[in-house]
Amino acid sequence: MRRGELFLVTAPSGTGKDTLIDGVLKGEAARNGALWHSISHTTRKPRSEEVDGEHYYFVDRSAFEKMVSNGEFLEWAEYNDNYYGTSQREVPPRLEKGIDVILDIEVQGAQQILEKIPESHGILVLPPSYEVLRERLHRRGQDTGAQIAERLALSLWELERYELFGYVIINDDLELAVLALTAIILEKRLRRDQQNHRIETILQGFRSATRGE
Ligand code: 5GP
Repeated sequence: MRRGELFLVTAPSGTGKDTLIDGVLKGEAARNGALWHSISHTTRKPRSEEVDGEHYYFVDRSAFEKMVSNGEFLEWAEYNDNYYGTSQREVPPRLEKGIDVILDIEVQGAQQILEKIPESHGILVLPPSYEVLRERLHRRGQDTGAQIAERLALSLWELERYELFGYVIINDDLELAVLALTAIILEKRLRRDQQNHRIETILQGFRSATRGE
């Protein structure tokens, strides 16, 4: 059976990554349960619209630290004074079943996974410019001026690590960005070595049919 592919999507805060991933999950790449969006653990408090077990597993610091010492995470990192981590049970069992998995992850976590699983695919989503990102963060109205300045400084740190990633999507048009991420996922599935099993089945059909004639 084909092994699933692992996609790591990283972006500075405010780049529109969540909307981009949602768009892909509603489209062709996720048809018939072919794509799983991994649910992370975090110590961050839930936002008003967030549901435990759907957007994240919300846990306290001691529960998170216990999971770390039990080796339950594939990767974890501290970001903005909170812990975030991908549990082992979210990813490898699905890849083994042939399901592709998409992780929404910051740079340090992406780096850990790229080291552990070099065949995974790192995708960096960029804003078209500093000014556009600053404007989006202001328009979102979630943060104070000082928090926005902090996010922008962190964004520079993240963008400077762009060479970790094999793919880059510059998000100046959401529809096109959804198409681009979908294309990356579909391209991996179209690789011949990912289709050996299906090709063999088709071939077998031809072989037995021609033998019978
Ligand atoms: P937020 O608090 O806005 O939901 O997420 C903050 C950052 O944490 C985002 O960059 C998001 O991609 C990242 N993140 C979410 N889940 C994980 C995870 O499991 N591991 C790591 N390393 N980062 C994560």
